[in-house]
Amino acid sequence: MLNQVLDYARTQRDRYLQDLLEYLAIPSVSAQPEHARDVKMAALWLSEHLRDAGLRAEVMATDGHPVVYAEWSGHDHHRPTVLIYGHYDVQPAEPFELWQSHPFQPGIRDGYIYARGADDNKGQHLAHVKAVASYLRCEGTLPVNVKFLIEGEEEIGSPNLGKFIAAHHDLLSCDCVMISDGALFTLTQPALTYGLRGLAGFEVQVRCLDRDVHSGHYGGNVQNPAFALAHILASLKDAHGRVTVPGFYDDVRPLSEEERRAIARVPYGEADVMRETGALQAFGDPAFTVNERKGARPTLEVNGMWSGYTGPGSKTIIPATAHAKITCRLVPHQQPEKVIRLVEEAMRAATPAGATITFSEERGTPASLVELDAAEVQAAVRAAQATYGNPPFYVLEGGSIPVVHEFQTQLGKPIALLGFGLPDDNIHSPDERFAVACYEKGIEASVRFLAEL
Ligand SMILES: [Zn+2]
Repeated sequence: MLNQVLDYARTQRDRYLQDLLEYLAIPSVSAQPEHARDVKMAALWLSEHLRDAGLRAEVMATDGHPVVYAEWSGHDHHRPTVLIYGHYDVQPAEPFELWQSHPFQPGIRDGYIYARGADDNKGQHLAHVKAVASYLRCEGTLPVNVKFLIEGEEEIGSPNLGKFIAAHHDLLSCDCVMISDGALFTLTQPALTYGLRGLAGFEVQVRCLDRDVHSGHYGGNVQNPAFALAHILASLKDAHGRVTVPGFYDDVRPLSEEERRAIARVPYGEADVMRETGALQAFGDPAFTVNERKGARPTLEVNGMWSGYTGPGSKTIIPATAHAKITCRLVPHQQPEKVIRLVEEAMRAATPAGATITFSEERGTPASLVELDAAEVQAAVRAAQATYGNPPFYVLEGGSIPVVHEFQTQLGKPIALLGFGLPDDNIHSPDERFAVACYEKGIEASVRFLAEL
């Protein structure tokens, strides 16, 4: 039965690829209000697609962008139920001019599908949809019960999903959760994520004046908020990138020697960071390795900052205000509210005379750790080994999937985090891509996972 399904999926290769290209052409950018209709279009496209595959599917309202929910269940209640999570929204594609081809006119070059959302996350969750479709087309049934929960707000921090899960507890009841929103090491080396960082962020405004003023009339007699903000930000880290905010590292879960040895086996280092990003050198706390800094240590970053006049030519003013967006990646045991409070206190203390500082848009999600020895997670391990030829590395991921924390606290079931992409797929960057082979292997891994389960 398994081989028949895999063979069937292979015969459908071209059609499955065309479907993904069609899905990627919908610019479902959740952060940008002008794309609200496109976000809805993507939800409708996906729900129709799930119905065509043989599932009961619907688009369900939230206070923000809708959730696509679908399910298939046999009459045998002893079968386990897997809830497959993904997100149909995508990051903004700007700046468009840095893309070799239009981010929403997907094309294939050198075996890669180039489009915003190709890897993150349309290609990965559509692989699961195609696995289920192949099973149902080929066998008329599935070996387990399957539910899909595909949200439209992951890239803006899933603000409504926690409430949605709480309100639909019975609908979402399951024995395990499968999430593919990450990467393999290579096409022959899978990776299973057992930890994800959390996130805490806010916006800061520094104000020194009522309005922008003439830099000749007032220069030398008033504080400049851009300098004040630069001074405040510079006080938050030392020369090695260590965060100097008092108490910032207090709750960080220490790594055991055994864990440090396991992390050291993962072949990823400074040269990889440089190659993947174009960085002139790797930079970070010298007391930790690249892999430890990526998954087991918290960060504090400026995501954007602005002040005064930034158009063409010059405008001789002293700006009234300066702004920055700041986020911290958190590790297990750190509480977002506490980290936000500590960083804001440090910034307030560093604010020079003549400037006032205010904070807004505070938000956060704690980090997560998942149970590796659960039977359902081990089913994913076997599926990955059979598909890619090697047992997966166990990794601590640097990124965040806020819903993992929601699933853990609200559903309390094992979660398998098995990514189908590659590390250099340029997610959140220009030229995002997803290898055609990754899509096909993802479908195969999903078919095998359903069978193993
Ligand atoms: Zn993303």
